[in-house]
Amino acid sequence: MHIPHRVKRAGDDGSAGPLLRADGVRKVYRSGDVEVPALHALDLTVERGELLAVMGPSGSGKTTLLNCLSGLDEIDAGHVLVEGHDLFAMSDAERTDHRARTMGFIFQAFNLIPVFSAAENVELPLLLTGVPQVEARERALAMLARVGLAHRAEHKPNEVSGGEQQRITIARALVGRPAIVWADEPTGNLDTTMAAQVMDLLCELNADEGQTIVLVTHDPGIGQRASRCVTMVDGRLVRDVRRPAIDLTDVPAVPAM
Ligand code: ADP
Ligand code: MG
Repeated sequence: MHIPHRVKRAGDDGSAGPLLRADGVRKVYRSGDVEVPALHALDLTVERGELLAVMGPSGSGKTTLLNCLSGLDEIDAGHVLVEGHDLFAMSDAERTDHRARTMGFIFQAFNLIPVFSAAENVELPLLLTGVPQVEARERALAMLARVGLAHRAEHKPNEVSGGEQQRITIARALVGRPAIVWADEPTGNLDTTMAAQVMDLLCELNADEGQTIVLVTHDPGIGQRASRCVTMVDGRLVRDVRRPAIDLTDVPAVPAM
C-alpha cells in the first residue's frame, strides 16, 4: 500500500538546507586496548518531512548511528549539523538543551516514570523546557488524544498495555513539536498486533503532520512504507532508497462541479 507523503519544503520554518546533515562521522568504541569501529566516515542527510527507515543486521551500528546523530553519544570525527547548528561544537549543556528543544526519542524500553500518570509523563518534557504547568497539561492531554489515549490520561504505565505504554512514549516524544523524532526499534517489545498499531501511528504522524522521523526497524513492511530506507552493514550505509513523494502542494485543486 502506498501512502502519499506530504513534503515539507526547506524554508517552511524559515531555515534552508537539510534538517540534519552528518559528514564523515566516525565512532570507535574502546574498552582497554580493544577498539571496535562502529561508524566509518558516515555521511547522511535527513530532509524535513522524511520518514527514514534504518535497517540492517544486529550489530551493524544502527543504535550507534542514532545516538551519534542525536548527540546522545560523542563522535570521534566528523560533524553533525541540525538546522545548521553543529552539535559537537556546543558545550554539553548547550547540546542537552538543544536536544530537549529539537528532538524526541522513542526507545524499545518505554522508559516511562512508573509513579507518574500518562498525562504527567507526557507533560514532563514541556515542564523541563519551561512551559507553564497549565499549558503543559493541555498540550499533554491533546497529544494523548492524538495517539488515541485520551481515556488513559490518569492511568499509570503499569495500568495499561504494552502497546498503550509505547503510544504514551510517542506522545511524550512529540509533545514538544520536535524537529526530529528518533525511534530505535520501538516495537521490539510488542506483540504483532500492538506493533502494527504503533507503526501505523508513526506512519500517520509522518504523513498527516509532516513529522520527521528516523526509525530503526526490522519490519520490512515499514521499509516499504517509509519515504526512504537506508541499510547499514558493518558501520556503513550500503543502500539508500527513496520512494518518490507526492507533493500535495502541487496537486491541482479539484474544479467545482
Ligand atoms: P545495532 O543497533 O545495529 O544492533 P549497535 O550500534 O548497537 O548495532 O552496535 C554496533 C557495534 O558496536 C557492534 O559491534 C557492537 O558490539 C558495538 N558496540 C555497541 N555499543 C558498544 C559499547 N558501548 N562498547 C563497545 N562496543 C559497542
Ligand atoms: Mg540497536
